[in-house]
Amino acid sequence: MIVANRKNVQEIRDMIKGHKRVLLVGCGTCVTVCLAGGERETGILGSALRMSLKLIGRGEVVVDECTIERQCDDAFFDAIGSHGAEYDAICSFGCGVGVQALAERFPNTAVYPGLNTQFMGLLESQGVWAEKCAGCGNCRLGEFAGICPITRCAKHLFNGPCGGSREGKCEVREDLDCAWQLIYDRAKNIGSLDKLEEIALPNDWSTALDGGPRKVVREDQCIAGLGPKA
Ligand code: SF4
Ligand code: SF4
Repeated sequence: MIVANRKNVQEIRDMIKGHKRVLLVGCGTCVTVCLAGGERETGILGSALRMSLKLIGRGEVVVDECTIERQCDDAFFDAIGSHGAEYDAICSFGCGVGVQALAERFPNTAVYPGLNTQFMGLLESQGVWAEKCAGCGNCRLGEFAGICPITRCAKHLFNGPCGGSREGKCEVREDLDCAWQLIYDRAKNIGSLDKLEEIALPNDWSTALDGGPRKVVREDQCIAGLGPKA
C-alpha cells in the first residue's frame, strides 16, 4: 500500500490562508489503512483546523469535510460532483496521486496536500510501516531471494554488502537491518546461494522514474475508440 503521514494543523492552516471556503477530502483506501487520511483522520483534522482558525481570529472560514472511496480513480469523484467547485480551496488527504487527480478534476480551484506521501510499504506491526518497493518498473526480486536491494539496502548495492554491515545491522542506521545480510540468510534457507555468485548487472533505470513519468496501457482493457495507443 501507499504509506503517508499527515501534515500538522498549523502547516495546513498556513497552506489555506487567504481562502474562505475549504473542503477537506479524505480517501477511503491506502491512507485509511495507514491511519493518515481516512474519514476518521479527516474529521479529526477538520475539527482541529476549525478550532485553530478560531484561535487566530479567522473563525469565519468555512471548513467542511467529505471522504470518497478512492482519490486515484476519477470514477469516485462523482461523489463530490459539482459540490467541490463551491469551495475556493480543496485540501486532499489522499496520497500525491489523489491531490493531482483533484487538481485535474477542479482546474479552477486551489488544491493542497494534507499528507506527506512516503512510500510503498508493509504493515510490520500495529502502527509500524516499512518501505519495501521503490517501483523501479523491472522487478529483480528473483535475483535477490525476494528482498529488494534497491529499496532496502541504504546504498542500493547489487553485488553484496558494503564494508559497514555489523551483526546484521546497516551502518547507516542502527535500527535498520542490513538488506544484504537478509538476502544472504534467505538465499541460504531456500538453497539459492549459488545465484548470488553471479555478477548482478547494473540496473536499467530507464524503467524507473529516471525515464520520465510512466504509464501502463492495457489495450485489451481499453474501450474501443477511447483507449490511448502506446
Ligand atoms: S526490484 Fe523494483 S519492483 Fe521489485 S521490489 Fe525492488 S523496487 Fe520494487
Ligand atoms: S550495511 Fe548493508 S544495508 Fe547498509 S548500506 Fe551496507 S550493504 Fe546496504
